[in-house]
Amino acid sequence: MRLLEHEVKSLLSELGVPVPRGVLAKRPEEAKRAAEEIGVRVVVKAQVPVGRRGKAGGVRVVDGPEEAEEAARQILSMDVWGHRPDSVLVEEAVEIAEEYYAGAILDRSARKMVLMTTRYGGMDIEESVATHPEALAKEWVSPLLGLAQFQVRRLAWNITRERGLAREIQSIISSLWEFIRRYDCLMAEINPLALTADGRLVALDARAEVDDNSLYRHPEFKKRAVATNPREREAEETGIAYVELDGDVGTMANGAGLAMATMDLVAEVGGRPANFCDVGGGASAKAVEAAMRIITSNPRVRVVLVNALCGITSGENVSRGLAEAVSSLGLSPDALVVRLEGFKAREGAEILREAGIGVYKNPMEAVREAVEKASKGR
Ligand code: GDP
Ligand code: MN
Repeated sequence: MRLLEHEVKSLLSELGVPVPRGVLAKRPEEAKRAAEEIGVRVVVKAQVPVGRRGKAGGVRVVDGPEEAEEAARQILSMDVWGHRPDSVLVEEAVEIAEEYYAGAILDRSARKMVLMTTRYGGMDIEESVATHPEALAKEWVSPLLGLAQFQVRRLAWNITRERGLAREIQSIISSLWEFIRRYDCLMAEINPLALTADGRLVALDARAEVDDNSLYRHPEFKKRAVATNPREREAEETGIAYVELDGDVGTMANGAGLAMATMDLVAEVGGRPANFCDVGGGASAKAVEAAMRIITSNPRVRVVLVNALCGITSGENVSRGLAEAVSSLGLSPDALVVRLEGFKAREGAEILREAGIGVYKNPMEAVREAVEKASKGR
């Protein structure tokens, strides 16, 4: 579960990380009042559980209450990488001298969290790491020993050799690590960790993802877990395993392993999966139809690839669900590519063909067809 910026900031702030003064606003008028209260230039920021908001126009530095209201109005009605913000964070704007990066992510192959810093942070962090790979320091944290002081020092020294500043960064890194431990994060980052023109350090942006397996011991998040992505929420209520990604090829399969393999195949031929979706081994026509509705309501999706290997459920059931979805959702049958194999696949294929939907036995042919359709639509 991804936390919103304001949530991460308030938790980090409790742990001693300096963050800008800010107020959460759900309506433009509230943003205006917040800006009046803060009394200086403010930043209005879309609260959505994804990064790169700045690039989508979801972060605006404005000059006064009226402008803040207008910026909030625009941001609250916009779509930020597929997410509708239902609040904005209004914060005092700071004058940035430098933008650093401090973050951590689970390194699955090392089976450890890895902490990273670079002094080239900010909006183009990916490119900056690519152009300055030597500037990225990494420290893997031993699950037994925890984060050692020397590691914290190395991470801070990687950003600056200036003693006083390095000490403050050390304290921020320690707090970030405490935050990650306390809230079972799979990922957390402060980017930018800004050095202001008047020499203060402040966490200007922060993101984090909490391990869903730990939600049972974080009741404070569990309540909110349902409120993030509307499609993921609906899937959860319907009993469909659905995780959204940022590609444009919608995928559906019956069985988690097959669903993963399907995404891999899409990537293999140069496509980008829009989601993981497992309708379950015994999926009914109703579940298949519901899954189609969820997948196609993602605005990024250009084509849906269904990979069904029927055993417990029948090819007839899956196909009926798909045909139903095409007619009830008013989809173009052309936007659907199906690979159907196994129990009653022949009967199922018949139903699909009647509905004008392309059906394949060979998974690679289906995958290629779907990826090609997505790239044409682009
Ligand atoms: P992100 O695009 O989702 O990572 O959102 P950020 O919160 O990181 O904001 C993107 C960029 O907006 C930052 O890298 C800064 O360059 C700029 N920005 C954010 N807050 C401020 C601020 O208080 N003052 C100024 N001048 N720029 C800011
Ligand atoms: Mn950022």
